[in-house]
Amino acid sequence: MADPINPLLSYRFDVPFDQIEAQHVVPAVTVLLERSRAQLAEIKRVQGAPSYEASFGALDEATEELEHAMAIVGHLEAVLTTPALRDAHNTVQPEVSAFYAQIALDPDLYRVLKRFAESPALTERSPAEQRFVKLTLDDFKRHGAELGPDQKRRLEQISVELSKLTTQYSQNVLDATNAFELVITDESKLEGLPASAREAARESAKAKGLEGYRFSLQQPSYIAVMTYADDRALREQIYGAYNTRATSAPYDNRGLVADILRLRKEKAQLLGFANFADLNLEDRMAKNGHKAQSFVEDLRTRTLPHFERENRELTEFVASLDHGPAVLEPWDMAYYAEKLRNARFDFDEEQLRPYFAVDRVLDGLFMLVERIYGVRVEQKLDAPRYHEDVRFYVMRNETGAQIGAFYADLYPRDEKRGGAWMADFITGMPGKRHVHHLGVMCANANPPLGNKPALLTHQDVETLFHEFGHLLHHLLGEPGVRSLAGTRVAWDFVELPSMIMENFGWERAILDLFARHYETGAPIPEELLAKLQRTRTFRAANAQMRQLGFAAMDLALHIDYDPARDGDPLSYARDAMQRYSGVKLPRDYAMVAGFGHLFASPVGYAAGYYSYKWAEVLEADAFSRFVEAGVLSREVGGEFRKHILARGNEADPLDLYKDFMGREPTPDALLARAGLLPRDSRPPRA
Ligand code: ZN
Repeated sequence: MADPINPLLSYRFDVPFDQIEAQHVVPAVTVLLERSRAQLAEIKRVQGAPSYEASFGALDEATEELEHAMAIVGHLEAVLTTPALRDAHNTVQPEVSAFYAQIALDPDLYRVLKRFAESPALTERSPAEQRFVKLTLDDFKRHGAELGPDQKRRLEQISVELSKLTTQYSQNVLDATNAFELVITDESKLEGLPASAREAARESAKAKGLEGYRFSLQQPSYIAVMTYADDRALREQIYGAYNTRATSAPYDNRGLVADILRLRKEKAQLLGFANFADLNLEDRMAKNGHKAQSFVEDLRTRTLPHFERENRELTEFVASLDHGPAVLEPWDMAYYAEKLRNARFDFDEEQLRPYFAVDRVLDGLFMLVERIYGVRVEQKLDAPRYHEDVRFYVMRNETGAQIGAFYADLYPRDEKRGGAWMADFITGMPGKRHVHHLGVMCANANPPLGNKPALLTHQDVETLFHEFGHLLHHLLGEPGVRSLAGTRVAWDFVELPSMIMENFGWERAILDLFARHYETGAPIPEELLAKLQRTRTFRAANAQMRQLGFAAMDLALHIDYDPARDGDPLSYARDAMQRYSGVKLPRDYAMVAGFGHLFASPVGYAAGYYSYKWAEVLEADAFSRFVEAGVLSREVGGEFRKHILARGNEADPLDLYKDFMGREPTPDALLARAGLLPRDSRPPRA
């Protein structure tokens, strides 16, 4: 029996955050799951030729309230967790996931949907609705809807097997990482490490009841040693441990990698694709594996001369030092790069904090979107919130009409997870239950201290701009199909609206809107800004090659790798990476055994690691239009809003992109921004 006043069932725009408790979760989700199932069952009962409303229209709405409730619960679990809330979330999560997974596997549902798709009524629908029909049926097919019973059974076995193997892989990485520790009692070995890293190592030792300093393979510990430790043998030891993680008993991922690759390939071929990349990228902007591969290869070619120059500069710098090694090894690169950075730049990013008081940064962000998109943001103090630090804002069009609203939750709390993210709560549509959009952005910036305002680093500023970009994608959406709204776009397109926003935070014209010293009111000194700008291109080709190397290796494993011909996938992956490395990788280099992005879940980033660079190409290229017209151009802003932000996934992303740019993307702007291309060699825009 449903509690009649369960606030999670209210589906109100003013979410009753002040009333929602952990005890509401299970009953509410149970009711909503039942309702969604009943709505799907109704679609399945349709006889003859269904109408759009009775088939795809109903499908589009069948999970609306369930999604909303799960978004609210998931959000509260992420920002204000309690043991009871976590339990409740963990209780409903598997059932909800299983429910969604079942939809594309339902043959009765597929039959009704297909009947509509094959009826003449399809051609009378809007382009967005026709696209929804196509994408939905493609998704059903990728889940085996067109397979015979034997093949379906095999597909099911593969899914079960893949989920088991990838879970095992992920646990092995975790356990192998945790199994390593290096405890140092001789303080002279810690030369070079900053006080914060030593302190963390001492705390880590203490927590284990040990004397001295404890180093692990966790990222902060690993990165600190690789970047700062003067002791070369120490760096070599930690590097070796990190890059051979999970390659020996009892946590051995070598066989799992081979098995996962084999099953992924079998799955792809069962579904009629040549390889796993083609299966996975069918609904992405890249479309297929070879397109992604040539994208990566092209960028490699264009980055290579700069990569070689940077590495020559590093070698020369090391040769000029008193005790530099004759040959640089992998465990020397980050260390000497840091030394070179210090020699070249006298820049500490803490110097910028006083110019980035949080309220000013938000005001600047809101001024920016008012200038380029014509939308106004105003804070509303009387909305129900779940914590006093959370702010609530309303966004209005130039006419004053409300478009949507959002929460901003910016500071860390013990009950809140780390990082920064955006989530949507409600997708508004004309004539529907809700006409306005509702979302949230979260960050973990330094909170105010005493009577000082919260002062952000430049990186925090970029992060806020980034998450606000995702939020704009949601809030400025003008959807005709809920399932295609806002950020529900292809994986290699979704970061365009967010990453393009980061660019604004590097522009003098934008910074001058808001960046003022919190005590003196002075703008950022020219010299300080110039220093910041210079650091942006420092060893940029190396950073880029590293990302390209992961992308190339990922694609090679999921497209070209043939176990009969190529043998051990780990050494195959190492060889693929070698082309992207400035130093010779060790024989036992086995990064792939610990690369959760690719193997810790059935899909994850597999055959999709290229997306990071792909999105960067798009955002840098698209931003070049703003640069050409003046970064505060209302005209370019208006077009970006109309062609990209308003459209969600209602047209092919490449078409949306071309509508905005007037041509296909090129990597020139990305290369120019990273200092890998002279700025004036950018071709004119068509
Ligand atoms: Zn993002």
